[in-house]
Amino acid sequence: MSAEQWAEVDSYLAEKLVDEDQALRTARESSGETLYPGIDVTPNMGAFLGLLVQITGAVRILEIGTLAGYSAIWMARAAGPGAQLVTCELEQANADVAQSNIDRAGLSERVNIVIGAAAETLESLIRQHEDPFDLVFIDADKKSNPDYLDAAVQLSRPGSVIVIDNTVRGGSVVDAASHDPDIIGTRRMVDMIASDSRLTATALQTVGSKGWDGFTILRRK
Ligand code: SAM
Repeated sequence: MSAEQWAEVDSYLAEKLVDEDQALRTARESSGETLYPGIDVTPNMGAFLGLLVQITGAVRILEIGTLAGYSAIWMARAAGPGAQLVTCELEQANADVAQSNIDRAGLSERVNIVIGAAAETLESLIRQHEDPFDLVFIDADKKSNPDYLDAAVQLSRPGSVIVIDNTVRGGSVVDAASHDPDIIGTRRMVDMIASDSRLTATALQTVGSKGWDGFTILRRK
């Protein structure tokens, strides 16, 4: 299949199956106002995250990588009233866009954007003995994925679910000789999961409007 066909099928399925209202559409489109336009999850992936929240009954959610708040809105909405979502974002400019989208979606009570380097935010959550999160979505700088995974496991409990985006990266994840820090980080993270007996994991390849990629999903035993 051509890239156009994959994108067309992704759009067809999203139009048919995904209930993206005006607040979500505005959030997705406003990624154009952030420092990194268009790197948010797709509507189908956003809906998947929302379903995962509902299937697992997650009410305490941690996200690493906010951008315009698109995936945060999907998850916080799915979690329902009383849920708490903490999302880590390095860039003030992105956080400002996300905050407007979260306010517009009526989720300011549920979503807390923490601005700063995620590594420091996570360290501080660990130091404060934050209650465990039911679900963690890791979607920031891929080179730091080993550190984020380590922190996510510390901030979770048996039964918690962790999802890590962009673990295929056009197939380059299999390149053991890569000098790309994002590939090195992703491969180290996969090795960590493979050798951690506390975790059950798999990874799914996806092809859609953003090309060939995939996500890793794991559960703490
Ligand atoms: N999860 C978002 C969504 O799907 O709507 C997309 C997140 S985007 C792929 C990655 C985000 O991580 C960017 O907004 C970027 O500024 C942020 N980021 C990159 N490095 C970071 C770091 N060290 N700490 C916190 N956030 C970081």
